[in-house]
Amino acid sequence: MNNKKNFNYLLSDLTKLKGVGNKISNLLKKKKINTIFDLLWKLPKSYTDRGISSKIKDLRISELQTVNVVPYKYNFPRIRNLPNKVLCKDETGNLDCIFFNSYEGYIRKILPIGKEVAISGKIGHFKNRYQIINPQYVSENSSLIEAKHNQYSLTEGITEKMYNKIIKQVIKDLPKLDEWHSKEILENFNNISWYDSINELHKPENIGKYNSSFYQRLAFDEIFSSYLVHSEVRKKIKKIKKKEKILDYVKQDYLISKLDFKLTKDQLKVLNEINKDLSSNQKMFRLLQGDVGSGKTIIALISALNVINSGFQVAVMAPTEILAKQHFNLAKKILGSFLKIELLSSKSEYKEKKRILNNLSSHKINLIFGTHSIFQKRVEFKNLGLIIIDEQHKFGVNQRKMLSDKGGVDCDVLLMSATPIPRTLTMTIYGDMDLSIIREKPNERKDIQTYTKLESKINDIIKFIKKEIRLGNQVFWVCPIIERSKKINHTSAIAKFEFLKKIFPKKVALLHGKTNQDEKDLILNNFLKRNYDILVSTTIIEVGIDFPNANIIIIEDANKFGLSQLHQLRGRVGRGKKQSSCILMFKSTLTENAKKRLKILKESNDGFKISEEDMKLRGYGDILGFKQSGIKTFKLADPILNENLFNLAEKEIKRIENNNEDISRFKTLMKLYDQADIINDIA
Ligand code: ADP
Ligand code: MG
Repeated sequence: MNNKKNFNYLLSDLTKLKGVGNKISNLLKKKKINTIFDLLWKLPKSYTDRGISSKIKDLRISELQTVNVVPYKYNFPRIRNLPNKVLCKDETGNLDCIFFNSYEGYIRKILPIGKEVAISGKIGHFKNRYQIINPQYVSENSSLIEAKHNQYSLTEGITEKMYNKIIKQVIKDLPKLDEWHSKEILENFNNISWYDSINELHKPENIGKYNSSFYQRLAFDEIFSSYLVHSEVRKKIKKIKKKEKILDYVKQDYLISKLDFKLTKDQLKVLNEINKDLSSNQKMFRLLQGDVGSGKTIIALISALNVINSGFQVAVMAPTEILAKQHFNLAKKILGSFLKIELLSSKSEYKEKKRILNNLSSHKINLIFGTHSIFQKRVEFKNLGLIIIDEQHKFGVNQRKMLSDKGGVDCDVLLMSATPIPRTLTMTIYGDMDLSIIREKPNERKDIQTYTKLESKINDIIKFIKKEIRLGNQVFWVCPIIERSKKINHTSAIAKFEFLKKIFPKKVALLHGKTNQDEKDLILNNFLKRNYDILVSTTIIEVGIDFPNANIIIIEDANKFGLSQLHQLRGRVGRGKKQSSCILMFKSTLTENAKKRLKILKESNDGFKISEEDMKLRGYGDILGFKQSGIKTFKLADPILNENLFNLAEKEIKRIENNNEDISRFKTLMKLYDQADIINDIA
């Protein structure tokens, strides 16, 4: 029989393992463990040391121990509910083995009178005698009982013993894979192989050895494979030869001169980067990253004008109708005299929709705005040259790739996001795209004053907003969750709405996750038109919408949010020229750590800096607070602790790209670590 396993073994279903049937496999699948490979990353949390105690008199009560004893008497009461007992001894004392629910015959077999056996279990003491209830192991030979036994955080229905057996089996059958890394890279990890690394990883005595070569190597594999996948997607897109756009800079500069502000240095730099891509013969696949209020929209519109002037159509996609409409209105205002611009709304009447669709396919429309509806099958463009996607940071690499394919060969792609992410994560999340960053904000913008306030001082807040409302200003009031739930004691938006309505009759609106889309648009429009003074909501309002008249935001239970999220929420105000304030409310006095976090927020208005600090304080798991679907979660690697590995991976991928190195040696790595659809395209 050929026992040699290859990497396919690692990708096979759990039921391939001995002792794993549908029941266990389904339990593990619920924990997202689908393949044998997935099992490798569930690490022991601690281990039990079944230290062998040579003598009964030295046993430590309540600990798991192993001891050699000789059974000398059975006590099998034939009365229901009374346990069977085997009296055992060594030369130093006595110990009773107590069995609930075990048959006599079985007990006689494993504990024969007069024969020395090793037994293992939790040591108890009762009526002056040592005892073990239901021993975990009984063996003729104590060396057969393993002293160290891993403990995992287990799923209900799977016992420690079962799980240890499964893992042991996997480790025993682990295939020796061909090395994929270069000699130079391996030197960073004491030349340890993948096979040896996994073996070390599961040894109980290695728990928590994050700085060891085996751990670092495996973390590096993980980071590097994600860089590789991105790099391949990028290469693929770059290979597409498109028709160069011929830009008309006179028209561009005319538009810029007509704006009622001067573009910032960063805006000009980014525009330049985009224009370079547009006029090259490689397809643009670029992310424009800039903090809230950094002025991305105008850059998008200037680029749109440039593409249109070179004979193409442009589509702008926003995450919601209301944001699409805001962009549409702005475009009409500044480009309306040159271009034919339309908004494709799900609410448009059938006839209107049909007219727009016809005009798109006959190139009577230059610029179209809408939600994801503009990429439905029935929407046909005559000559689409640029897709701009605003605030879709939730798109993962697969979705981005799909969009890029959809526009056709000549269509460039520009994504915009106000979600600043720490540097180490940029490559991980957006490595498939070229990156443009706006760091600087338009300088006429006043910084938002940020305050903290205890919930018990709510009357001060009410007094403050009364004054602001009298001045004609508007207020956002943000609560963490919609209903009072037993599990999470977040403040309820509904309750706050009822409370505020009593103080400000007819002037308060409510918006939460269960409000339907039409109603939501209506409420937001009414708020924009200043029909309400206060908008109570959960976090569902997107970042991109401009509410120039709202200058106060109150955030309840502020410690429930991450700093980046607080910063983004804060960015809903401060878009006009008025002085804006953000009040963070707390239920109780702040801990030192919480104070430290808030200090960062109060002192900085730089989203990039805040996200770095946030990640350091909270870990990277949910730095954005918004639970991104596109973010890859690492099994071992940690962007804070392993910054060096991220840097090494970046250097290595650049080296490979620059040398145009063949990457077929990484196929196994990519297949194991990134089972993304795009891989099928590549490998
Ligand atoms: P974001 O990057 O968050 O999408 P926007 O594009 O919505 O930001 O811009 C926010 C506000 O700043 C808009 O009202 C816009 O007109 C204004 N703005 C953009 N660029 C500048 C600039 N260079 N100087 C002054 N105001 C600007
Ligand atoms: Mg925006």
